[in-house]
Amino acid sequence: MNHNPFGFVSLTALIILYLIPIIVALRKDNNSKVIMINMFLGWTVIGWFIALGMAFGLPRKSHSQSCYWLYHCEECGYKKTFDQKLRLFKCPQCFHDNFYME
Ligand SMILES: [Zn+2]
Repeated sequence: MNHNPFGFVSLTALIILYLIPIIVALRKDNNSKVIMINMFLGWTVIGWFIALGMAFGLPRKSHSQSCYWLYHCEECGYKKTFDQKLRLFKCPQCFHDNFYME
């Protein structure tokens, strides 16, 4: 039996280190190229740095951006922001139903 937990830990750390460009790229758009370069050329070290650089250069995922929509009541002017698009905004102040088209 091989009782060397440090060896296992360092191997895990090495794998995680190797996959850092992919981990970064997974939160971005158009990440398939980075994943390919990381997987197949990451061991060349140069390929790893290229993948890492590309991963950081990628645009952020569009839906992970924090977008807020501002709604205001047509009746009393009450304003409130939501992190999603609403079709119906029921005013909590005057209970007026505000409808919005797509
Ligand atoms: Zn209102």
